Amino acid sequence: MGENVRKLSPGRLVIASHNDGKVREINDLLSPLGIDAVSAKSLALNDPEETGVTYAENALLKARAAAGAASLPALADDSGLSVTALGGAPGVYSARWAGEPRNFDTAMKKVEAALDESGTEDFSARFVCALALVWPDGEHAVFEGEVKGSIVFPPRGEKGFGYDPIFVADGYQITFGEMDPAEKHAISHRADAFRKLMKACAP
Ligand code: IMP
Repeated sequence: MGENVRKLSPGRLVIASHNDGKVREINDLLSPLGIDAVSAKSLALNDPEETGVTYAENALLKARAAAGAASLPALADDSGLSVTALGGAPGVYSARWAGEPRNFDTAMKKVEAALDESGTEDFSARFVCALALVWPDGEHAVFEGEVKGSIVFPPRGEKGFGYDPIFVADGYQITFGEMDPAEKHAISHRADAFRKLMKACAP
């Protein structure tokens, strides 16, 4: 994706997420473009079921649903942890590995057990983020970002969320859970995907 992507223009845009933290972060990034980002929650839109088998498919189906329901451009993200020796798992099922209600201590233990069972010495992994932008007429673009690193046990650090305590980015010694949020946000999979989106879509 790249040169021929439609540019974002000032006005309202829906963030197809019910996570207030994500909406705030995205709003901060888009407000310099004159874009007023509103959440799917504030418009009382329903979350579609995430039936895709790739990050891009899930991001697209969330953005399509929101663009259709709100008749506005919509932006959605889907992300997760892909562990090489586990064939990319937990991948698009990263949130689901934490069960209901979400418990990431359990999810991290599952990753540890699966790696133990595989007998692998390859602890490489990456966080991936797909960002999908869909216009009300159906035109769309997807941008994928990643940060490469490796899995460590036991989990370390309380500053992040999800699988952050077991992920060390390449070139670092501390986990994402031990890293200051500003530093993580500068190198994260979401930041990488956003840089690509801004490069293609900022007017
Ligand atoms: P989503 O909200 O459906 O995209 O689910 C993403 C899931 O992937 C989250 O619930 C986390 O488990 C995991 N995840 C995504 N990004 C991160 C991150 O930056 N740190 C830790 N876990 C992440």
